[in-house]
Amino acid sequence: MKKMKALVKKYAKPGLWLDEVGIPDVGVNDVLIKIKKTSICGTDIHIYKWDDWAKKTIPVPMVTGHEYVGTVEAFGSNVQDVKIGELVSGEGHIVCGHCRNCRAGRRHLCNATKGVGVNRPGCFAEYLCIPVSNVWHCDPSIPSDIFSIFDPFGNATHTALFFDVLGEDVLITGAGPIGIMAAAIAKHAGARFVVITDLNEYRLGIAKKIGVTRAVNIAKESLHTVMKELNMKEGFDVGLEMSGNPKALESMISIMCHGGKIALLGILPSNAAINWETVVFNGLNIKGIYGREMFETWYKMQSMIQTGLDISAVITHRFLYSSYLEGFELMASGNSGKIILDWENIN
Ligand code: NAD
Ligand code: ZN
Repeated sequence: MKKMKALVKKYAKPGLWLDEVGIPDVGVNDVLIKIKKTSICGTDIHIYKWDDWAKKTIPVPMVTGHEYVGTVEAFGSNVQDVKIGELVSGEGHIVCGHCRNCRAGRRHLCNATKGVGVNRPGCFAEYLCIPVSNVWHCDPSIPSDIFSIFDPFGNATHTALFFDVLGEDVLITGAGPIGIMAAAIAKHAGARFVVITDLNEYRLGIAKKIGVTRAVNIAKESLHTVMKELNMKEGFDVGLEMSGNPKALESMISIMCHGGKIALLGILPSNAAINWETVVFNGLNIKGIYGREMFETWYKMQSMIQTGLDISAVITHRFLYSSYLEGFELMASGNSGKIILDWENIN
């Protein structure tokens, strides 16, 4: 069997191992992608650290990673609409195709979805094999770095565009890579003010570069003061929770206008408590967001980049795949935006 280099969760303990594994078999409906660039996600850090979620979710051994761009190397006999050498990325949720939502075309709501690099082999490798229905055809005039972060850019897009933001005041809690990209999207989509919060100055610095109205360190400054400075009267119209921190959601709920809309992407602890009275009396609208819409979100992402949306400042570091440990440690420290691992120069 032909072998390839891959970052493998080899043992049920903290760490990630550069190893050699078999190149995946290509089924009749599959596309084999030669990986060019991958990027590190918070989920990969959970797997690396081997926290409780990872322990109960990740099969061992398994190749990890789900954010990537590459070129088509081979495809199965049933595949017609891809070309060898074409630049592609792909949706990381492999859906069942049979459940009610799948059959209705609402694939992002599939109840049996499987995650690339979570439930099945991932992209931190020389090759990745996925069903053709998950392939995204990349516009080659867009830099491949940008496509390597399309997966989290998609989370940001799905969340930021769920509610109409044109002319609205938007509050984003959490200036992680996804919060920062959501801020750029909200501006691009015509929001009046985009205010983002975090405790991490490095990340607030990236948010400033991307052009937010205000990047607020909530350890130092209150949102009420910011509202006054901006001459806002009634609270934020749209809230995007992107920190996963219950305190952030609580403060968001308290500062929304009546009838305000909140999209929740951040994964809150299951016992997180909120002030339900405010939700009810102020008529708030709260929507959970998971993944990306297939493929409406992907379409919007590519169109927004084509029409001038610039998210490049969120990419802060690049490493060769073999220096992955440096990349993982840096990502875990919080002092980075997106970190790209380069798989093009394999030796
Ligand atoms: P991240 O962990 O890199 O960023 C979260 C940021 O929130 C950090 O910068 C942190 O300093 C900040 N933060 C912590 N407490 C805060 C507080 N009280 N107020 C304001 N900011 C605070 O995560 P990310 O990769 O940008 O992803 C954002 C969130 O979305 C995470 O919770 C992640 O697990 C979740 N996520 C959900 C989906 C989904 O499909 N629902 C997909 C991807 C990521
Ligand atoms: Zn399904």
